[in-house]
Amino acid sequence: MNYALVTGASRGIGSAIAKRLAKDHGYKIIINYNSNEAAAKATLSEIEAAGGEGVIMQFNVANKAEVDNAITKFYEDNPEAVIEVLINNAGITKDNLFVFLEQEDWSNVLDVSLNGFFNATSAIMKKMVRKRYGRVVNIVSVSGVKGVPGQANYSAAKGGVIGATRSLAQEVAKRNITVNAVAPGFIETEMTEALPKEELIKLVPANRFGTAEEVAHAVSFLVSKEAGYITGEVLNINGGIHS
Ligand code: NAP
Repeated sequence: MNYALVTGASRGIGSAIAKRLAKDHGYKIIINYNSNEAAAKATLSEIEAAGGEGVIMQFNVANKAEVDNAITKFYEDNPEAVIEVLINNAGITKDNLFVFLEQEDWSNVLDVSLNGFFNATSAIMKKMVRKRYGRVVNIVSVSGVKGVPGQANYSAAKGGVIGATRSLAQEVAKRNITVNAVAPGFIETEMTEALPKEELIKLVPANRFGTAEEVAHAVSFLVSKEAGYITGEVLNINGGIHS
């Protein structure tokens, strides 16, 4: 059975990606979450209601041992399973102007958004290389492409993932593994709930926030077999914000 692992798939963009990959490509979805088990189960129920399959899997992407243990146990329990697709989606923000930024908020954002990419990808990449096929899509941000004031920590994390995307893409291209990034602008999720929407919309030529489904559509395209010659790319989904 071929699986797609989506980190942070309990809510928001990750949940939309999980549902879309099940529907478009028939993957059995590994729905990772950190703390919100009820939301992860709700994502699974929606996948099943649409005729798809999935499992939920708890781990904190920032904790390498937790990630490794969960993936090792998964392979032990499912010896025939192949994780063909990895979507590194889990991420957090702790916004503040740099002069007020606490060391803890710098480190937490890097631990989840940058080290989380390393932890999840390193847990599955060896098997992917052996299978000589794979799709990795990293959810970054306009913040990592052009920098956003008040987000030096988040911009650093997402910019770091973009660099790693380009590097890893070149390492594994020969094995039919593509590694790309998707960089959303402002998307309607819990992450952006507290932002001053009316003010921010003025920065967006499309005059609206995007939807999680619009991001999921782009991810599904990059995951498709037909997208096999696209690698090391960053696809911006931001309603025309210059980046
Ligand atoms: P969200 O609504 O806040 O959802 C975050 C998801 O990530 C939840 O499923 C959460 O799991 C999971 N998560 C958080 N920390 C985790 C950890 N340590 N380990 C495992 N899972 C963890 O966020 P979103 O807006 O959907 O964002 C998804 C991705 O898109 C992030 O990487 C974000 O940086 C990026 N992005 C978002 C926007 C935007 O405008 N929304 C724009 C650009 C980029 P629990 O439910 O268990 O807490």
